[in-house]
Amino acid sequence: MVFSIESILHKKEFTKDDIVYLLSLKDENDRECLFAKAREIKEHYTGNKIFMRGLIEFSNICRKNCLYCGIRAGNSHTHRYIMSDEEILESVAIAVKSNYGSVVIQSGEQNSADFANRIDQLIKKIKAAAGKDFRITVACGEQTGDTYRRWFESGAERYLLRIETSSAQLYRSLHPDDKEHIFETRRSCIYKLKDIGYQTGTGVMIGLPGQTVEDLAYDLLFFREAGIDMVGMGPYLEQENTPLIEQKHLLVPVNKRLDMSLKMIAVLRILMKNINIASTGALQAIEPTGREMGILAGANVIMPNLTPVKYRGKYLLYDKKPCLDEDTLTCGSCIETRIKMLGYEIAGNEPGDSLHFKERLKQ
Ligand code: SAH
Ligand code: SF4
Repeated sequence: MVFSIESILHKKEFTKDDIVYLLSLKDENDRECLFAKAREIKEHYTGNKIFMRGLIEFSNICRKNCLYCGIRAGNSHTHRYIMSDEEILESVAIAVKSNYGSVVIQSGEQNSADFANRIDQLIKKIKAAAGKDFRITVACGEQTGDTYRRWFESGAERYLLRIETSSAQLYRSLHPDDKEHIFETRRSCIYKLKDIGYQTGTGVMIGLPGQTVEDLAYDLLFFREAGIDMVGMGPYLEQENTPLIEQKHLLVPVNKRLDMSLKMIAVLRILMKNINIASTGALQAIEPTGREMGILAGANVIMPNLTPVKYRGKYLLYDKKPCLDEDTLTCGSCIETRIKMLGYEIAGNEPGDSLHFKERLKQ
């Protein structure tokens, strides 16, 4: 079959082969054509506004051992921390003061009753401090349906849980072969979260050892089939103290992982026009202007890091994490200025709910 970028971009539905074709584009003009189409769709559906979510990485304590992650339980080089409620609320206050309509509270995975209770109380405290229109996204890994429901009822409206890859086989190669790291369990959490009523976010890592362009095309098709509301995806980046570093020789160079991540954002925007797509920090770890490039490829959300500087260097999912010593407030204002220079507006103090989610509620 003969493909051309114009004929594919005019299609109503993409096949897996169309997606593979778009993800494989190399010619500079073709790439720009793809990004321009994604921007046009973004601006039509989600407007000219970019939404800011303050990211609070409140603990690096994790019970799991994902082979790629720097804060995995087995990494004895990491000094563990957990922020106090007061510290977390201070970061929330910075988000409110900066006019962000929402925060993401993210941590390693813990499954004790104490942890579930603490997060439950914390959600209520954040809601009381920041107001009912302020949105809380939780990203604390796999939990029971009861825990997800409790946190939802206490005021968390959004949940982020990346499936990491839609390939069961690749997932297996990235995780220990035990009952704590099961592909189907993780995937079933996405459906649980949707059923409970969360704005549900997921994502994958891009450029993993052994990952093919077909795998990535299936990832995008999975997002559509699962009907998710938000996506945060970005390049896989090496972390020296993790087992996956042994497969370093299988990796493509970081600039190719960045390029593929941008194409993934653009194709996803064309596939799922009204979802929220984040331009993630891992893009910036490869290229200082990586998050702006993500916005120009079709993303509409930025997550400035509000983790206090003293903890940032300990939340090292990957090496070369950006903004480790930047002051929390300047980190946000520097990205805001750069986004405005691209011609976008920064959304004021508004929730920025996923339009896809609002449509889903109507049905
Ligand atoms: N523990 C929670 C949230 C924290 S980890 C969870 O696992 O869902 C958040 C995300 O960081 C993971 O989903 C993974 O996609 C990403 N991540 C971890 N290690 C990474 C690495 N080496 N490179 C890029 N992303 C990584
Ligand atoms: Fe823990 Fe999440 Fe890292 Fe896995 S990816 S080791 S669950 S923090």
